[in-house]
Amino acid sequence: MEIVEVIPQYNLTEDQEKKLILREYRSLLRSLKPKIKPGDKELLRTAFEMSAEAHKTMRRKSGEPYILHPLAVARICVEEIGLGVRSTICSLLHDTVEDTDITLEDVEREFGNEIARIVDGLTKISNVIDVNASQQAENFKKILLTLTDDPRVILIKLADRLHNMRTLDSMKREKQLKIASETVYVYAPLAHRMGLYSIKTELEDLAMKYLEPEAYRSIAQKLSETKRERSRYINEFIKPLKEKLEKAGFDFEIYGRPKSIHSIWNKMQKKSVTFEEVYDLFAIRVLLNSTPEKEKEDCWKVYSMITDEYIPSTERMRDWLSNPKSNGYEALHTTVMGPQGKWVEVQIRSNRMNEIAEKGLAAHWKYKEGTNDESRFDKWFQQIREALNTENNDSIDFLQDFKTSFLAEEIFVYTPKGDVKMLPVGSTALDFAFSIHSAIGVQCIGAKVNHKLVPISHKLRSGDQVEIISSSKQKPNEGWLGFVVTAKAKNKIKDALKEEKRKTADEGKYIVQRKLENFGAAYNQHNIDILTSYYKLSSSLELFYQVSIKNIDLKELKEFHLLGDRLEMPKPAKPVVDNKPETSISLPKKDAELIIFGESSDKIVYTLANCCKPIPGDDVFGFVTTGKGLTIHRTNCPNAAKLMASFGHRVVKTKWAKNKEISFLTGIRIVGMDDVGVVNKITNLISGELRLNINAITIEAKEGLFEGNIKIYVHDKEELDELVLRLKQLKGIHTVDRFDAENV
Ligand code: MN
Repeated sequence: MEIVEVIPQYNLTEDQEKKLILREYRSLLRSLKPKIKPGDKELLRTAFEMSAEAHKTMRRKSGEPYILHPLAVARICVEEIGLGVRSTICSLLHDTVEDTDITLEDVEREFGNEIARIVDGLTKISNVIDVNASQQAENFKKILLTLTDDPRVILIKLADRLHNMRTLDSMKREKQLKIASETVYVYAPLAHRMGLYSIKTELEDLAMKYLEPEAYRSIAQKLSETKRERSRYINEFIKPLKEKLEKAGFDFEIYGRPKSIHSIWNKMQKKSVTFEEVYDLFAIRVLLNSTPEKEKEDCWKVYSMITDEYIPSTERMRDWLSNPKSNGYEALHTTVMGPQGKWVEVQIRSNRMNEIAEKGLAAHWKYKEGTNDESRFDKWFQQIREALNTENNDSIDFLQDFKTSFLAEEIFVYTPKGDVKMLPVGSTALDFAFSIHSAIGVQCIGAKVNHKLVPISHKLRSGDQVEIISSSKQKPNEGWLGFVVTAKAKNKIKDALKEEKRKTADEGKYIVQRKLENFGAAYNQHNIDILTSYYKLSSSLELFYQVSIKNIDLKELKEFHLLGDRLEMPKPAKPVVDNKPETSISLPKKDAELIIFGESSDKIVYTLANCCKPIPGDDVFGFVTTGKGLTIHRTNCPNAAKLMASFGHRVVKTKWAKNKEISFLTGIRIVGMDDVGVVNKITNLISGELRLNINAITIEAKEGLFEGNIKIYVHDKEELDELVLRLKQLKGIHTVDRFDAENV
C-alpha cells in the first residue's frame, strides 16, 4: 500500500485561482494607496508579476498557489506594521532568490540596490534559520547582523513568520513544534523589542496553540465561558468614567481588552494559580484624540479623573509618557481598585501613541520627522553592533546575553552631565560604570545615585542620576558577576578575572617547578597532568592557580613514586575515619591550640563554616571533616552543640592570629525609622568613615520603618564590633544585629 500525504481539499479551477490571486493583489494595493507615489504602481506590478511567474509551479503545503504567501506577507507589512512601497516590493520578492531561478542581480537590475540589499538579508535569514536546531544560536546571531543593516529586514521577516504561524495547521506535527518553539524563543521577543505588541501577542498565542495545545484550548474555552460576566463588569467599571470624560469634553474611546491566552497562562504558571484566580484577564484602554501639543497633558488629566473615581495602587503606576521605552512605546498605565474590590489595569494613550504601540518601529518613523527625539532605536542598533563586534564568545552564551541585555525592558539613567544611558532592568551601578567605559568599570568602588552614596551592586531605577566613584586600587572579583546584567560588564569582568588568574597562576608555576625538581621529578607535561588529575582539577592553569593561592601545598608529592623523572600516582590515600583517632592527617593534639592565619597556618587546610561565617576575633573551634580538612565554626553556631556532642573527638581548639590582609564577609541587619537620608548615613559611615567594603546592601521600607541587610567585608571581630557600635549611635536606628545565614 502506498502512503500518501493528505493535503486538505483544495479544489479551485485554474481560472478561480487566478481571480483569487488578483483579488489579493488588489486588496494589497488598496491598503497601500495612501503611500503610493507616481511611478510606484509600475514597480509594484513588476514585482508582483515577477514573483507570481517565478513561483508559478509551486504550491504551499495546504495546496494553495505559493504566490498567496508573499502577497499575505506584504499585506501584513502594510496593514499591521505600517510599512511602505519599498518594503512591499521586498515582501513580494522575499522567497524568490531563495526558492526560484531569480537571482539577486535580477532584483538589483529591476529595483535597484536598496531593495536588493533587503531581499539579500531576507534570503540569508532563511538560509541560516532552517539548518538544524543546534545551530540556532549561531543563526540568531546572523539574523542580528542583518538586522543591524536595515531594520526592515527583520520587520518583513516577522511578517513572514506571522503568516507561516497563521498557516501552520497544514504542516507536520514535528515541523509545527520546531517552528513554534523558534517563534517563542526568537521572534516573539524580537517583535516585542521592535514595539510590535499585537504581533508579539499573536505569535505567542499561536505558538502556544501548538506547543501547549491542551492548556491553550482550556483557557480559550474558559475565556469564552466567562465573557458575558466580564463584559458586564467592564461596563460597570467604564460607566462613571465615560460620564466624567464626556463632561470634561474629551474626544475619546474607552474599552476593555482581553489579555492574551499566553499571558494568562504565563501568569498561572508563574504564580501557580488557577484560571479563576487570575484577576487581570483584561485591561481597560482609554484612547484620546488629542493634538501632539496637548496629548501628554490630556493623558494626565484623564489619569487624575480615573484615580478620583477609583483608588490607584501606588506600586503599579507606569509613566512611559515622560520616558518612552526604547522601542517607542508611550502610555500611562495605572492599576486601580474597581467595583467588588477587583484590581483593574487602565492604559491611557493618545491615538498617535496607540499607533506606535500597534505598529512599533514603522509608525515611530512616520512620526519621527519634526520631533526632536534623538532616536532611541539608533542607539539600540548601535549597542547591538558594538556587542556583535566585540564578540568572540560561543553563540549559546551570546544568545543568552543578548536575550537578557537587549530584549529585556530597560531603564533610563542619567550621567552627571544629563546624558541619557539605556540599561536593562535590574542593572546596577557597576553596569552603568561599564557602560561608560570598561576602564571605569574595573575601577568602580561605588557610586552616587541622586547624590547619595551607594555600593556598586546598587540596582538603578529609571530617572536616577548616577555618578561613578572609582579608585585605581580597585580590582574586579568573582562576586561582581553576581550583580551585573549587561553583556558588556559581564564580558569585561570575566576578561579581567581571567587575566588576574593567569598572573597569579604564573607565580604558582614556579612553585610547582621548584617542588617537582626538589623531589627529583621533571617539570614536564606528563608530571603536571598527573598532579592535575591527582588533585581533581580541571586544568594545569587551575593547578598553578591553586598552588599560588596556597590552597594546595604539594605536600602530598612525597606519596608519589618516581619512574626515572616521571611521577606515578600513589595508592589512594586513606580517608579519615570516625572511629580511628589516628589518621593520616597530622593533626595537632587534642586540646592544643591551633593557631590559624599565623605563619604556621599555611600547613593547615581549613574552610570557614558556611552556617555561621566566623570572622577573626570570634570564639571558634575547628572540626575535622573527612576530605576537607578543618572547618572553623563559631562556638555559638547553631550546629556547634550537636557537633561537639556527637563528634567530640573531632573537635579541636583554635584561635585566631592577627591578620590585617584578609577580610571576611559577614552580614548585619539594621532596623530603624524610615527617613530620607538614612541609607546615605549608613553607607557614609561604612564606606566613608570606616572605609569598609560593602558587598551587597538591601533596604526595605515598610510603614515608616526600614530594614536593611548589608553584607560587608571586615578584617576581624573588633572591626565589626566598632561598626555595630557606630551604627547604633546614628539617629533613627533601633537595632543592629549580625546575621550569619548565607542567604538572608
Ligand atoms: Mn516566506
